[in-house]
Amino acid sequence: MRVIVVGAGSAGSVIAARLSEDPDVEVELIECGPDYANIAATPFDLVNGHRNSMRDHDWGFEYFPTENRPLPLPRGRVTGGSSAVNTTIALRGVPEDFDEWASLGCPQWGWRDVLPAFNRLERDLDFGTAAYHGDAGPISIRRYRDDELLPQHAAFMASADRLGYPYAPDANDPDAWGASPHPLNKLGRVRISTAVGYLSAARIRQNLTISAETRVLRLILDGDRATGVVVETSDGISERRADLVVLSAGALMSPMILMHSGLGPREVLESVGISCVRHVPGVGANLRDHPAVTVNARVKDPSIVDLDQPLMQTILRYTAAGSEKRNDLQIEQISYSGVDSFPIAAVLEYTFGAGVLTPVDADPRTPPKIENRFCEHPTDLERLALALRDTLAFVEDGPLSDLVDEVLFPDRSRGVDLDSLKTICRKRAASGYHPCGTVKMGDRADPMAVVDQRGRFLNVDGLVVADASIMPTVPRANTNLTSIMIGERVGEWLRTERTSYV
Ligand SMILES: Cc1cc2nc3c(=O)[nH]c(=O)nc-3n(C[C@H](O)[C@H](O)[C@H](O)COP(=O)(O)OP(=O)(O)OC[C@H]3O[C@@H](n4cnc5c(N)ncnc54)[C@H](O)[C@@H]3O)c2cc1C
Repeated sequence: MRVIVVGAGSAGSVIAARLSEDPDVEVELIECGPDYANIAATPFDLVNGHRNSMRDHDWGFEYFPTENRPLPLPRGRVTGGSSAVNTTIALRGVPEDFDEWASLGCPQWGWRDVLPAFNRLERDLDFGTAAYHGDAGPISIRRYRDDELLPQHAAFMASADRLGYPYAPDANDPDAWGASPHPLNKLGRVRISTAVGYLSAARIRQNLTISAETRVLRLILDGDRATGVVVETSDGISERRADLVVLSAGALMSPMILMHSGLGPREVLESVGISCVRHVPGVGANLRDHPAVTVNARVKDPSIVDLDQPLMQTILRYTAAGSEKRNDLQIEQISYSGVDSFPIAAVLEYTFGAGVLTPVDADPRTPPKIENRFCEHPTDLERLALALRDTLAFVEDGPLSDLVDEVLFPDRSRGVDLDSLKTICRKRAASGYHPCGTVKMGDRADPMAVVDQRGRFLNVDGLVVADASIMPTVPRANTNLTSIMIGERVGEWLRTERTSYV
C-alpha cells in the first residue's frame, strides 16, 4: 500500500513516522519547504528555540484580524512545519476542550481518549511520572526553574502572587490554574520540532521518502476517490499516485488544496473560477484562533532586555470573571519587544466567534484571503477586554510595575473602563498564531462537518485530513501539542486499522 502525506508539519511528520513503522506501507511525505537531514545541517533560526523564526522559513501569509488592515500571519515552510519555527510553548488544552469535541459529534476525542496520545508524544522532564504525563516520547518538555527566570518573569510571578493568583507548578496538570513556569519543548535552546523528535528517527526507514521542495497544487480525483496529487517542483508539474492521500498541510493550506481540487462551498469556488466537484460548505469556514492584545511597557533598566534570552518563560491561565469556561484566558509575560521594552499579552483562549478563509483566484499558488473576525462575538469582546484589564493590573503596581518606566500601550489617559478597553480590542486584537478549524471534523449529520472523527473525508474515498484544520473548536492552549496529538491518533489508526481507510 502506498500513502502520500501532504505537509511535514506538527501533524504530518508524526503521521509519516507512525505509519512507516509498518514496513508493508510505502509512505511519501511531501513538503513544500526544505528538509534538513540533521541538526548540524539545520539553520540557526530553526535550531534556536529561544525565539520564533518568522522570515527565513515562512509562507508570507497575511490576515485580516478585524476590519482593520492586514497583518503578517507566520506559518512554517520546512520539514517540522510550524513546530520548526514556533515559540516552543508546550501547553495542553483543558480536559473540557476535548469533552466538548466529543459532544460535537466526535465521541472518540473526549479527554480520556486523547490523554494516552498526549502522554505518548512527550518526555516531560519535570513531571514525567505523573499519571497524566509521559516520560518516554519524542518531544522533550521542561520548565525553567525559579533561579533561571529573567527579572521580568520573576517579577511577573511575584505580581501574580500579589494579585491573588495561585502558583501552579505544572500548567499541564489537568486541574491546574494560576501562574506557572511555561512547559517548553526545547532542550537548552534547541527546539524539539516534529522534524527533530519524529523524523530524525524515522528518516532512515527504507519505506519512507521525504520529498522536500515539492508543492502540492491539487488532488487527483477519480470519481468518488482521491488517487494522488498534482505537484510542482523545480522540474515542473507532475503527478504522484497513491492508494491513500493524507492532507496535513495545516489550517490554512489543507482547505486551500481541497478548494483548488473543487471540494468546497460551491458559490465561493465558482466566484473565483474554480469548478465545483462537490459542494462542501464547511471547507474554509469555522476559522478559529486565539485573539490577543498586548500591553507594551518601556523598562527602567534596558539591560534586562536581552534579545538572545528566551522569549517566553511564564504563563498565567485563569478564568474570566463570571465565565463558565474554565481557563478561558491567558496572560503571557514576553521577555522583550524591542531594545528597551517588553509586552504582556492578554489572550482569549475560549472563543465563540469564527472567521473564514477563501481563495482569491483559481491559481493554487495565490495565498488565501484570511478573515478572522475577531471580537465580533460580544462574549469574545467582553472577555478579551476583561483580560486586558487584568493584564494592566500587572503594570499598575507591584513587582512587575517596579521594573517599568512607562506603559507605552495602551495610552491609559484615554480611559481604562471596560468600554474603552473594548474599543481597543476591536481595533487591535491580533492572532495568537493558532489558526485551526477550517476542515472541521464532526458527525455526518452536521452540514458543516468536512471529515469524520477518524479524519476521513465525507463523500470522497481515499482521502484523509489530519492537522489543526480538523479541530472543531480551538483548545484553551497553544495549538502545537494538540496538532501533534492529532497526528499521533490518526497515524495510529492508519497503521492499525488501515482497511477502514482505503
Ligand atoms: C511563529 C509561530 C509561533 C507559534 N508558537 C507556538 C507555540 O509556542 N506553542 C504552540 O503550541 N503553538 C505555536 N504555534 C502554533 C503551532 O505551531 C501550530 O498550531 C501547529 O504547528 C500546526 O500544526 P499543523 O500540522 O496543523 O500545521 P503545520 O505545522 O503548519 O504544517 C503544515 C505543513 O504543510 C506544508 N505545506 C503546506 N501547504 C503545502 C503544499 N501545498 N504542498 C506541500 N506542503 C505544504 C507546510 O510547509 C508545513 O510544513 C506557533 C505558530 C507559529 C507560526
